[in-house]
Amino acid sequence: MDDCIFCSIIRREAQASVVYEDDEVLAFMDIFPVNPGHTLVIPKGHYPSLRDLPPAIGGRIFQVAMQIERAIRNSDIPDEGTNLLLADGAVAGQEVFHLHLHVIPRLSGDRAGFRFSSANRAMPNRFALDGQAAKIKAGM
Ligand code: AMP
Ligand code: ZN
Repeated sequence: MDDCIFCSIIRREAQASVVYEDDEVLAFMDIFPVNPGHTLVIPKGHYPSLRDLPPAIGGRIFQVAMQIERAIRNSDIPDEGTNLLLADGAVAGQEVFHLHLHVIPRLSGDRAGFRFSSANRAMPNRFALDGQAAKIKAGM
């Protein structure tokens, strides 16, 4: 994709601080990090959404994210916890439509968010949960 910034990074036409690369996956530092160490793991193919992504590549992306999390934990980059975050769709906060998994080191008091407010949630009854489970189960 000519106008995709992450494809440009893969082609090395745009700058990036790369931490990992293989035939399928590239990982590099986020340019506007939530905290130091914030890394993005992307497929080398231009898949805009999870529904486009071959499951095996999804598995590789998660494996690489786990390796990065361990490497950060073993480094002197401050890391008290981690968020793995994948925004699929504009409504979910996706801004770059080349799928990517964020690896975000978390620090107490960093005010980064990622907490679901209980004010916006309600606890459904078991009947409703069973109904949703049945619909999902049927599609798997
Ligand atoms: P999202 O909102 O999940 O689509 O996240 C997109 C992420 O890509 C943001 O955290 C940006 O800071 C990051 N980003 C955008 N352009 C670049 C770039 N050229 N190099 C590294 N990270 C980038
Ligand atoms: Zn792309």
